[in-house]
Amino acid sequence: MMTRMNPLLGRNEQFARTYTPVALGLPAAQVLVVTCLDHRVEPAIVLGLQLGEAPVIRNAGGRVTPAVIDDIAYLAFLAEQLFGRQGPADTLFEVAVVHHTQCGTGFLADPSFRRQAAEATGLAEAALEASAVADPHTTVKADVERLLTSPLLSPKVSVSGHVYDIATGRVTTTVDARHP
Ligand SMILES: [Zn+2]
Repeated sequence: MMTRMNPLLGRNEQFARTYTPVALGLPAAQVLVVTCLDHRVEPAIVLGLQLGEAPVIRNAGGRVTPAVIDDIAYLAFLAEQLFGRQGPADTLFEVAVVHHTQCGTGFLADPSFRRQAAEATGLAEAALEASAVADPHTTVKADVERLLTSPLLSPKVSVSGHVYDIATGRVTTTVDARHP
């Protein structure tokens, strides 16, 4: 069978040989990561995450969109329903928004590139503009604010902002964790 997944399925075969399943529970790191889908930004590797430690939501730019807010609202509800009494009284998990340097969405900050992209793909120019990360320090602050002011965010969830530098491999905290 020909598929480019073949070498990766081989790696999975190796993985499954020593695999131990993890039971459904609160994320062990008590963190939920929101970050870019960029293949150079892999939270499991960059943050050393193991299975069962942290859910990860990824999209272009790692932007806090309405869809991301919906997912976080549901996960907070689920965590509270299933495990609310086991966790600390005041917090279910911290949402860590991680934007990065050299983001491919940065081109979308340029109006003519954006117009071209909208015409070629059929996507709305406003949506493309909303996903642009030209300066990750600025966008991560805006997105932490967007999440903290959302009426859908559980008061038991805290939010922090960070920037991953592609050149150095380092993650720097831009916004300290706080509750809505
Ligand atoms: Zn990116």
